Amino acid sequence: MQIYIDGEYFSKVDAKISVFDHGLLYGDGVFEGIRIYNKSVFRLTQHVQRLFRSAKYIHLDLGKTPEEITEIVLETCRRNELSDGYIRLVATRGVGTLGLSPTLCPKPCLFCIVDELAIYPPEFYERGLALLTVSTRRNIVDALDPQLKTLNYLNNIMAKIEAQRSGFEEALMLNSEGYVAEAAADNIFIFVGDRLLTPATHLGALPGITRNAALEIAAELGFQTEETYITLQQVYNADECFLTGTAAEIVPVFEVDSRPVADGKPGPKTKRMIEEFKKLTVSDGTPF
Ligand code: PMP
Repeated sequence: MQIYIDGEYFSKVDAKISVFDHGLLYGDGVFEGIRIYNKSVFRLTQHVQRLFRSAKYIHLDLGKTPEEITEIVLETCRRNELSDGYIRLVATRGVGTLGLSPTLCPKPCLFCIVDELAIYPPEFYERGLALLTVSTRRNIVDALDPQLKTLNYLNNIMAKIEAQRSGFEEALMLNSEGYVAEAAADNIFIFVGDRLLTPATHLGALPGITRNAALEIAAELGFQTEETYITLQQVYNADECFLTGTAAEIVPVFEVDSRPVADGKPGPKTKRMIEEFKKLTVSDGTPF
């Protein structure tokens, strides 16, 4: 494995960053999780754009152009020779003092890992996932905007812990007003008849790259799509429900808070979406 760190490539054992890096000390940084399908990087431009939006939000000057970062990702992929895999692209505030002041961190740290993908077990797709609504609310927009991917993921991790301790693989998170926001690391969608609904991003949902793809696919299939307010009862009474994310792709949800979604089986529209998404993954990438 060849890992890029600040202009050099290292083996897995030698790829190390300082204990004084503020990414580690304070979660001060931003990141992207990206997929490789068939020797191409899926929607790389959108991922790099989101990385830059996140960096701008936290006042982190990456010191590189989007083109340069794109090339770093592609070169790391070339060196790792994986035809399918997962990329983690991370930019931290860099090395500083033990105080939290970012002004004492002169240089950001950029690293890129290309690894095998930890695929979800097939039963997640055949049977679907059961979700539990957790008490941990999604970060509020005026504290740490959930529209951006910062390294500060404790909000999501707390939600995941709550779900897992109750025996559920995924958590459903509400925003501070009680509207459905997203899962701990995935976006949520519901079908109500031929309408496909997903929480609007200003309500606490990450503008997921897979979410964008799902909205596009649904529109092409002739479904009406809406980014809107969604309440828990709408999820309970939905005809179909699924999650989207770079690692998960599109995964059906069969139960939410002990209530079966419709007949408790992955629905036909969700299956159709999964089929179309599969086609997109092999047709819409940047080859390396
Ligand atoms: N929400 C959160 C909180 C996430 O971390 C992610 C990424 N796994 C998503 C949604 C899905 O976004 P994407 O489709 O870009 O992976």
